[in-house]
Amino acid sequence: MYFAISHLPRRSRQTPHSKSPIRTHSWPGLNQSAPINSGHFEQPEELVITVVLSPHSDDACFSLGFMLQMNPGSILLNLYTSTDFMATGRIRAVDASHLRRTEDEAFAARLGLQMKDLALPEALLRGHHPFDLRGIERDATELDEALCPLLAGICETAGSNRIDLFCPLGVGGHRDHVATLMVVIENLPVLSEHFRVCFYEDLPYASYAASRETAASRLKAWLSPRQLVRQVLVLNDSQFAEKLELARLYHSQFSAVAESSKLIPAESPSPMPHEAWWTLN
Ligand SMILES: [Zn+2]
Repeated sequence: MYFAISHLPRRSRQTPHSKSPIRTHSWPGLNQSAPINSGHFEQPEELVITVVLSPHSDDACFSLGFMLQMNPGSILLNLYTSTDFMATGRIRAVDASHLRRTEDEAFAARLGLQMKDLALPEALLRGHHPFDLRGIERDATELDEALCPLLAGICETAGSNRIDLFCPLGVGGHRDHVATLMVVIENLPVLSEHFRVCFYEDLPYASYAASRETAASRLKAWLSPRQLVRQVLVLNDSQFAEKLELARLYHSQFSAVAESSKLIPAESPSPMPHEAWWTLN
């Protein structure tokens, strides 16, 4: 299966962070019939294929670790995996990237995931403060060019099976998370033909109520008048303990979220452990 639309209608949309219109876009290569080298994945037998876009090496685990555990064979696409960032401080990029790759490999092996790294440099290595969104449209363009051929390859492999595509909601406003969200939003008309798009609440950022609500409101405004529905996967005590065990596979990052409450989306008055994402109604 190939994307039927090679050129999207030109649109413009304002982001809350910039007065310049979000980048307009065409899908490079998606109308080509040749196999896409970097986008080949084995086709699982399940009728639903789960694909998670993880801006950094730990986002999928922290935000959706238990959901992924319930869906072996899922596809994990790590985007900005060239990094020098550790919870304890910055080190040589080659060392940090390698260490975090080993953590990802352990996570993927434990859950039986198919994993692919785009190896894009994260915000700090691109010379940006991680929470400064100025000029983010260019980042989104670069990510688009790397990511969209991969998604096309997954569609090709999936055939008529349903694909659930999990994209970060961008809670907390990290530049790499928001760029990911922008690419998915911009391509939503085409993606929706092939994927059931889900916007997940990024942890640990979503453990802060104000950040979570701001991101949810932003998405609702962007997609209005379409309605969004919050989906919740509630974890009992033993399931949450399993999730924490998965999070601890990320030794280099887990100290930043050492408190278990940082792995629970904030939802008043007293949230049960859960993972959450938003779907279009
Ligand atoms: Zn991240």
